[in-house]
Amino acid sequence: HAKEQGRNNYQFYNPALNTRTLERVKMENRLRQALERHELVVLYQPQVAMDTGQVTGAEALVYWLHPELGLLSPGHFIPMAEEIGFITDIDEWVLETACAQNKAWQDEGYRSFNVTVNMSSKQFRRPDLVDQVRRVLNATGLPPRFLELEITEGTAMKDIEYTIPSLNTLTGMEVGFAIDDFGTGYSSLSCLKKLPIRKLKIDKSFIFGVNTDPNDKAIVATIIAMAHNLKLEVIAEGVEDADQLEFLHQNHCDQMQGFLYSRPIPAEDFRRLIM
Ligand code: C2E
Ligand code: MG
Ligand code: MG
Ligand code: MG
Repeated sequence: HAKEQGRNNYQFYNPALNTRTLERVKMENRLRQALERHELVVLYQPQVAMDTGQVTGAEALVYWLHPELGLLSPGHFIPMAEEIGFITDIDEWVLETACAQNKAWQDEGYRSFNVTVNMSSKQFRRPDLVDQVRRVLNATGLPPRFLELEITEGTAMKDIEYTIPSLNTLTGMEVGFAIDDFGTGYSSLSCLKKLPIRKLKIDKSFIFGVNTDPNDKAIVATIIAMAHNLKLEVIAEGVEDADQLEFLHQNHCDQMQGFLYSRPIPAEDFRRLIM
């Protein structure tokens, strides 16, 4: 601020900066209204078993159908939602929507599979997390074993003594946990061993390099082997081409997710994949 920098240090009015700040505040306020205005939508991206090609899961991803800007992917507003503390409202709504959707598919007679919901650090650390998940499962009627929660390494490792009771309780209810973007954070392997998780999700940055970069090849092969040695399932995200798929197949990865099979799509379109 001009004042803090001393009287003689003259600060010029910067219209560009000011406009950006105003835009930002406007955007934050619009985001807060987005839920009640029904502008948020959940798209689902299929997760597929490598051996059978069957859909084993649907990852719920929240998008913002902005009236002026069109469809915004989560990268455009999730960081902002985290900053303004709105992320827990979003996470709760996505949890409810995704569980209700999965139950609806089951009731329509489709073969059962998991729904996977991303959980921010803030959501994962709320003291009433277990109650909230239990309430949503009861309200929607989805059996807990069909719900999987994705947390990043950072979220999983932060204050592990504080979060492990809710992790244990939810796991005891048969809710599954997956570590998202695995390999990009820094998890200590000794912590990983202590966590009651079901699945590792290899970050897409490693999958992108798998055809060309020997280091990425080594990293992906090592994560798959480690997961299996720890009796965990492993899924690759960001699979875009047949060569990547072939590499994952040769290395016995359990599941894959990526544009090669399908982009995230609306629930109505998902039905075609699970018929
Ligand atoms: P994520 O959980 O790691 O989700 C995977 C991201 O990779 C998604 O981006 C997906 O569209 C994208 N992706 C999937 N397959 C491919 C592929 O083959 N190629 C490429 N290039 N990309 C692929 P998206 O939809 O933009 O989501 C970004 C992130 O936003 C997610 O990363 C997740 O961390 C976060 N997010 C999404 N929905 C929620 C939510 O409801 N709550 C919270 N807290 N975070 C969310
Ligand atoms: Mg995810
Ligand atoms: Mg991921
Ligand atoms: Mg990610």
